Amino acid sequence: MPEFIPLISRQTIQNRVREIGKQISRDYQGKDLILTGILKGAFMFMADLTRQIDMDHDIDFIGASSYEGTHSTGQIVFTKQPDLEYRNRDILLVEDIVDTGNTLTKIMEFIQLLNPNSVAVCTLIDKHERRKKAIPVKYACFSLEKGFIVGYGLDYDEKYRNKPEIYDLKL
Ligand code: 5GP
Ligand code: MG
Ligand code: MG
Repeated sequence: MPEFIPLISRQTIQNRVREIGKQISRDYQGKDLILTGILKGAFMFMADLTRQIDMDHDIDFIGASSYEGTHSTGQIVFTKQPDLEYRNRDILLVEDIVDTGNTLTKIMEFIQLLNPNSVAVCTLIDKHERRKKAIPVKYACFSLEKGFIVGYGLDYDEKYRNKPEIYDLKL
């Protein structure tokens, strides 16, 4: 049976998301902000974060999943393209978790081609142990060394996204 080790409570998530939302509101004052969530893992974090940002901004989503071929090439496939115009705008990519950094590296390369004014990263969890690519994480709600995290949008085989707290899953 999988074991769920409680890591971060609802209250702790709520407090931290409020703080990060305030910081973003300060940092992006007067800018043309688009909050771009990376599906699916970031959906719950996005819903809470946008409500804690106290300035006008647009919402977009992109879909990206790792390419599951015969070789592990680190390629990603876009399952949803951005809907909005990104040229000259300030893009804040919202991720559930940064692990190796491969996914965000590819996404940031792609977003740069759209000629935004700026691109930055906000992640719910910054997980360090397996990092391969340097990612300029501007905002991280929580920092962890390792673990396999589920809940609050994060899945194991598409399950457990609905859990309102964050757990370390021991299989
Ligand atoms: P990357 O290794 O490219 O930085 O991470 C790619 C994706 O793998 C993340 O956006 C997330 O969807 C998934 N991932 C990485 N670590 C974890 C984890 O601990 N738990 C869950 N549920 N997904 C993870
Ligand atoms: Mg993700
Ligand atoms: Mg996943």
